Amino acid sequence: MGLSNARLKEFAQAKLADLEKLDLRRELADTARFSGGKIHRSAKKLISFSCNDYLGLTHHPDVIKASQEATQTFGTGSGGSRLVSGNNPLNSQLEALLSKIKGTEDAVIFGSGYLANVGVIPSLVGRDDLILIDELSHSCLFAGAKLANANIIPFKHRDTTEVSNLLSTHRKLFRHCLVLTDGVFSMDGDIAPILELHELCEKNGAWLMTDDAHGLGVIHEGRGSSIVDGYEVPVPLQVGTLSKAVGAYGGYLCANREITELMRNRARSLMYTTALPPGTLAAAIAALKIIDTNIELTNRPLAFARLFSDFLSLEPPESPIVVIQLGNPERTIKASKWLEEQGYLAVAIRPPTVPEGTSRLRCTFSATHTQDQVYDFAKKVQKILEKK
Ligand SMILES: *Cc1c(COP(=O)(O)O)cnc(C)c1O
Repeated sequence: MGLSNARLKEFAQAKLADLEKLDLRRELADTARFSGGKIHRSAKKLISFSCNDYLGLTHHPDVIKASQEATQTFGTGSGGSRLVSGNNPLNSQLEALLSKIKGTEDAVIFGSGYLANVGVIPSLVGRDDLILIDELSHSCLFAGAKLANANIIPFKHRDTTEVSNLLSTHRKLFRHCLVLTDGVFSMDGDIAPILELHELCEKNGAWLMTDDAHGLGVIHEGRGSSIVDGYEVPVPLQVGTLSKAVGAYGGYLCANREITELMRNRARSLMYTTALPPGTLAAAIAALKIIDTNIELTNRPLAFARLFSDFLSLEPPESPIVVIQLGNPERTIKASKWLEEQGYLAVAIRPPTVPEGTSRLRCTFSATHTQDQVYDFAKKVQKILEKK
């Protein structure tokens, strides 16, 4: 082994040892997912309460069939970037369907939700511009903001008074201003004050962009976080993913046609990466058709989350994500391991994914669960809370 390779080894070992000491080292666990929310992990059969496949669409027969047929016809890979030779017509079909569901003029697809954020944000703002971002937004919104090289000011979680003050003080000093927030917060399950943010942005000449990764398909009859009291807030920039409730893979931006065209011309994470595989696009189309028409299905995850929260006397949840705050990483890991022994997967979420001192079990509910499973799981979680 060369000297530099030995140094690299030492370097990584020291970093990993630090993480180990803080109970923050992570391990990949082989996890095979089957239909009905069943998984095999470390030779154990578990029911997952940690999966983003909210509607079970990854195993829906229509979705699988669409994916198989597209793969049979067009092959396994797309063969190029969308701008070169990879723009299979399924892309346009998917974009049309997304914009219809979201009520926007157009949509543009990216390779993933992460790629959408790191592509869209730097295409809109730069050095002379301001970004206000909810402090608990998903990591990839921060990554996009940093890549944009703009002036970034995080604001307190869901605090519209602070946003208003920041806009009054800083807006006029910058050319453009982009306000970024998760629609449904991925690690907390609460929802951004979309209507208030929209009004503040309108008043101050700022652009609102929401990331609805955990909203599409699971809140407001599947239509996502832009619906407030049954009314559609015209959020001009709506990013999201096809990898969660939609059960496929990929990301999107729903916006007006000029903005989507600008992305096709400017967003580096669209231009310089290979287009999604045809089978994935076809799966997303089939899944979105189900989401668009099956309200009973899209209401189920939140109904289960409510049942669970009610049983444990927690605040009524706004989304199918329910958080059990346990505080320190060690206690959280122990709880997660104990649940695994009981037949349930509920993963421990620790820093840096969440702030220091807020390690938690993050439980997600799916249309594939049964009421009995939800109640039994709730009883197990109750035991953990009693041990406080
Ligand atoms: C999961 C998630 C993403 C990333 O989407 P991928 O398609 O998995 O890359 C982006 N934003 C939020 C808010 C998410 O929860």
